[in-house]
Amino acid sequence: MRVVVVNAGSSSIKYEVFALDGCTSVVQGSLERIGTREAGFRRRWLTDSESWEDIVETRPIADHYEGFQYLLDVAERYPTTRVAPGAFFGFGHRVVHGGEAFREPVIVDEDVICRIKDLIPLAPLHNPPNVAGIEALRKLRPDVPNVAVFDTAFHQSMPPKAFHYALPHELHRLHHVRRYGFHGTSHQYVTQEASNHLGIPLDQLNLITLHFGNGASAIAVRGGKSADTSMGLTPLEGLIMGTRCGDLDPAVHFYLARKTGMTFEAMEEILNKESGHKGICGLNDMREIQRCAEEGDAQAGLAIEMFCYRVKKYIGAYTAVLGRVDAVIFTGGIGENATFIWARVCEGLEHLGIAVDGARNEAVSGTVAEIQKDRAPVRVLVVRTDEELEIARQTIRTIEKSNLSKNGII
Ligand code: ADP
Repeated sequence: MRVVVVNAGSSSIKYEVFALDGCTSVVQGSLERIGTREAGFRRRWLTDSESWEDIVETRPIADHYEGFQYLLDVAERYPTTRVAPGAFFGFGHRVVHGGEAFREPVIVDEDVICRIKDLIPLAPLHNPPNVAGIEALRKLRPDVPNVAVFDTAFHQSMPPKAFHYALPHELHRLHHVRRYGFHGTSHQYVTQEASNHLGIPLDQLNLITLHFGNGASAIAVRGGKSADTSMGLTPLEGLIMGTRCGDLDPAVHFYLARKTGMTFEAMEEILNKESGHKGICGLNDMREIQRCAEEGDAQAGLAIEMFCYRVKKYIGAYTAVLGRVDAVIFTGGIGENATFIWARVCEGLEHLGIAVDGARNEAVSGTVAEIQKDRAPVRVLVVRTDEELEIARQTIRTIEKSNLSKNGII
């Protein structure tokens, strides 16, 4: 049987098909520019000889519903022989915001859909396409269970002292203003991988996990659970990101509004899309920033320096919060690949027991690698994250635990 993991955005759908047996990835694909006459389709599937074959094509596609029809056709037919065609065990959906309502993945029913829609004000760009994906697949294949897996759920274990803002209490009670945290599936995945790798049971494991992709977040993990995170009500808070500013004095908004007459919308656009690395040096791709910095571009150099400096501040804060840190983990596109970032972030942290070995640094391959110096008390791990695999696993577990499975319906 097959499990399909879906990540539906406003004009794109990413998907991955896993064989239920062993949870192996067998098809990966994406549909882009949905709603145009030039929608792009990409898919790659695992062949019998264990190699991946690719197809890229362009064709008109009217809406998400049509996109999902195509996706199901591919997910059912490919790969041709490795997994029996057809039978779907479940669909797992990435849902960005689960608010305070969802602490774990759930089987979707009408009530769950209403509650995810209620959370749209907290994630106006993400939750609507996530719900559209769920609704399309429920309509197309009513016989297959859908599971919603929330980016925020892993952080629901944060204690009140970590998730509250120091604002009037009613703002939380009436409008749910608090820290939620994101990238939860990635942080949860690397936490489990670290537990397996280090041989430390989850409930005894303390970590600082650093996810650096286009978005970036740091979290403190106590006893295998999220204890604090750098992202807040939205993914704008915390570390410096590709185009997002991260931590900022809230008074900047009032000052700019008074001084320039800038609207709310213009400010939102600047803080989300024109700030971060892009704001500092005009580039948001770390590979390009590194190249320009090496060629002597002072602003690119400053962007890297500011990024690493802020990460260091979070490592210091979370070390203080946790008391004992078993490992610091780097993950995400930058975290897994940018060797110079590991060294820069950890430079000068020897007094906290954190020191990376330059030589190991260059020799990383595989899913989990250790890059700390010999005898350094805190391990430093590079872990390849796999959010789709984590969603597939959570989807399978949720369906197996549910009455659907117990009653023999699937
Ligand atoms: P997303 O958050 O969109 O999933 P990714 O996790 O793929 O993004 O991370 C994208 C970032 O990773 C980009 O800034 C890219 O430049 C950076 N990156 C990928 N490979 C490398 C590398 N070898 N060295 C430095 N940065 C890299």
